[in-house]
Amino acid sequence: MLRRSLRSIAFSASRNYVVKSLYSNMAQIIDGKAIAQEIRFQLGKELKQFVEEGAPVPHLTAVIVGDDPASEKYVANKMIACREVGISSETKRLPSSTTQEELLQVIADLNQDPRVNGVLVQLPVPEHINERTICNAVNVDKDVDGFNELNIGRLALDMDGIIPATPLAVKTLLEHQNIETHGRNAVVVGRSKNVSLPMAILLHADGKYATKALDATVTICHRYTPPKELARYCRQADIIVVAVGKPGLITKDMVKPGACVIDVGINRIKDENTGKFKLVGDVDFEEVRQVAGHITPVPGGVGPMTVAMLMQNTLKAAKNQFYDRKSS
Ligand code: NAD
Repeated sequence: MLRRSLRSIAFSASRNYVVKSLYSNMAQIIDGKAIAQEIRFQLGKELKQFVEEGAPVPHLTAVIVGDDPASEKYVANKMIACREVGISSETKRLPSSTTQEELLQVIADLNQDPRVNGVLVQLPVPEHINERTICNAVNVDKDVDGFNELNIGRLALDMDGIIPATPLAVKTLLEHQNIETHGRNAVVVGRSKNVSLPMAILLHADGKYATKALDATVTICHRYTPPKELARYCRQADIIVVAVGKPGLITKDMVKPGACVIDVGINRIKDENTGKFKLVGDVDFEEVRQVAGHITPVPGGVGPMTVAMLMQNTLKAAKNQFYDRKSS
C-alpha cells in the first residue's frame, strides 16, 4: 500500500516535471483577472478615503437601450464591480423602441443630476440611434467611457481627460508586467474609434505629457490590410494588440519570439468537443503562447481590466467634480 502511494507520488512528481519543462518556454500568461482584483481593492481604499474627506459616495448610472444579452451581461459585471469598490450604481433600461430624442433627454437629465458622477450608455445602441450623437451628448466630465469627442480630442492632444477603459486597461497591463514599450515596435490590429484608435494614440504618444503614453512606434492594420502584410507587420512587432472580433486571426507564424500579445477580441463560439458556447479572443492562444513572451487569455485578460478601468474613471470623475477641477 505504502509502496503504491510512494510510486504514485514519484510518478506524479515526474509528470509534473515533464509538464513544467514542456511549458517552460511558453509565454507568461498575463492574469488580467487577478490584476483587476488588485486594482479594485486599491480603488476601494482610495474611495473610502475620499468619502472620509466629506465627498458624497461616487455614483455611476449605466443606460441600456434594448435587450441585447451581451450588453446585459457587460453592464451586470460593471454593477458588481461598483459594489465591490463602493461606488453606488444604477442601471436604466430603455426599450429598443426608444427614439434618439428620448435617449438624449435621459442623458440630459443625468448630466443635470448632481448626484450622478458617471454616465455610460452601453454600446451598441439600436440602429435607428446615432452612436456618435449619443457619445457626444454625455457631459464630458461625467463621460466615464471616454467616448465623447472632447475626451478623445484631449487624448489625441496629450491633455488630461478621461481615457476609454479598454485601451487604458491594455496600457495598465503592459505597465504592470513591466513590458518595455519606449522605442519598441507595436502593431494595433483594428481601427475602431472606441478601442483601436485610442489604443494607437496611447501606444505612440509622448510619455512626458499628461496621458503618460508609451512612446512606441505604431502601425495600425485593419480590414483592408492584405493578410500577407498583416502577418509581415505583426512579425516585426514587440507588442501586438488585436481588437477585431475574428477568432484565430493571429497565428503562431505571425508572432516574433518573445513578443507581447494582447488579445482584446471577444468571440462567442461553439466548442466542438462539448457542444457548448465559449468565449475566445482573436488570437490562436494555444499556438501563439508557444512563441510569445507574454500573452493575455480570453476570458480573464483585458475584459476584467476594462471593468476595473471603468471604476478608476468613475472615481476620477467624482474627484474632479468634487474638487471642481472642471476644465473650461
Ligand atoms: P469594431 O467592429 O468596431 O472594429 C473591428 C476592426 O477590425 C475594424 O476596425 C476593422 O477594420 C478591423 N478588421 C476586420 N477584419 C480585419 C482583418 N481581417 N484584419 C485586420 N483588421 C480587421 O470592433 P471593436 O469595438 O473595436 O471591438 C473589437 C473586438 O474587441 C470585438 O471582438 C469586441 O467584442 C472586443 N472588445 C473587447 C473589449 C474588452 O473589454 N475585452 C472591449 C471592447 C471591445
